[in-house]
Amino acid sequence: MFVSDALGLSRHAEKRLEEKNILRDAFIPHSFFSDLIEVLRFDKKFGEIEEGTVIAKTVKGVRVVRGFPKIRRALTLYPTLKQHFEKEVAVEEKMNGYNVRIARFGKNLYAMTRRGYICPYTTERCREKVGLDFFKDNPDLVLCCEAVGEESPFVPKKVYGISELEFFVFDIREMRTNAPLPIREKMSLCEEYGLKAAPILEIADVRRAHEIIVEIVKRLGKEGREGVVIKDPAMKIDPLKYTTSEANAGDLSYAFRYFNEYGKDFMFSRIIREGFQSFEFNEDEKEFRERCFRLGFSILKSLRESIKDVYEGKEVREKIRLRFRDFEVLNLFIEHLRKTGVTFEVVDVRKEGEYAILHVERIMRSTTDKIKSHLGGSPW
Ligand code: ATP
Ligand code: MG
Repeated sequence: MFVSDALGLSRHAEKRLEEKNILRDAFIPHSFFSDLIEVLRFDKKFGEIEEGTVIAKTVKGVRVVRGFPKIRRALTLYPTLKQHFEKEVAVEEKMNGYNVRIARFGKNLYAMTRRGYICPYTTERCREKVGLDFFKDNPDLVLCCEAVGEESPFVPKKVYGISELEFFVFDIREMRTNAPLPIREKMSLCEEYGLKAAPILEIADVRRAHEIIVEIVKRLGKEGREGVVIKDPAMKIDPLKYTTSEANAGDLSYAFRYFNEYGKDFMFSRIIREGFQSFEFNEDEKEFRERCFRLGFSILKSLRESIKDVYEGKEVREKIRLRFRDFEVLNLFIEHLRKTGVTFEVVDVRKEGEYAILHVERIMRSTTDKIKSHLGGSPW
């Protein structure tokens, strides 16, 4: 099997991999993906191999792109940072979009989402926005990016002032080993090739980092941004993330709008974060009340909205707008959505200049049904 050859698995490991049924198809064959012969993704972690790892049999041989590792969260800045890092930390902005790994296979770029799917929409966008220059000189590197903007199939956001979709590099990693480049090298490569990068907000002495980050996070929060990822400049120590209260509230608002599609853990963990931040930020009564209001408002406003939608005979839906250069890629993306198990309706497709604009709505079936049954008088 090409997967075990590519990863150097023993016969025993290969057998276990098969038994566990972890490998899944990662793409839909199409001329848009002309460099790909067969591509598999790891649907779960397997030993060292991260979930979302992609093994691609391409016209130019077999390539491995490792899954993007989980980033753990600091619940307290002090003493967590001091204990976790050495000497200095780089504080990067945590951009709020979706995780994309971009690699070159054969002649073209391919964009992989977190779980290892090759996404037609994201691939078309990255071929246009990122381009091949970087990969001509660095064929074995992967750009780990946050795809951000209003035209996002997963996390549409207005706060960045990006009406379409842009890619912000946050890590550059070695394809096969997943080893990240040090921050300095990452930034100089981004500069050299004109790639957008997640901004570095501060390089701080680890003994003072918590104080500085409190101020940064308060400011980012007011601007509606998500938070920070704190990194070892050499990238030898795993990074940690930390988010603003406004981002936590934003997540809760989303989760409660679609409350039956979301895991209870998702909601619970965001409330716990608020407790720790409120304590650590030493806020006065006014700030504390604002936090309480933000938390409660984000939850109830969404819930009430969803209930009202169903009461008025509508389904609870999420609206998404995306642009495509090529009509065939638009169709391929619709097939991709179906394959990844999303329930949706295509509401409109229209031509706008050189683009085909797709309007789809994700249908939140489970939330809709739950609300309907209670409005109809069923007890919980
Ligand atoms: P995980 O924590 O497993 O990575 P998650 O979906 O729970 O996944 P988030 O809470 O969104 O993740 O935080 C991690 C994600 O943040 C990364 O996977 C990446 O997509 C995104 N991110 C945005 N900006 C950065 C950055 N500067 N450095 C690293 N990751 C970033
Ligand atoms: Mg995210």
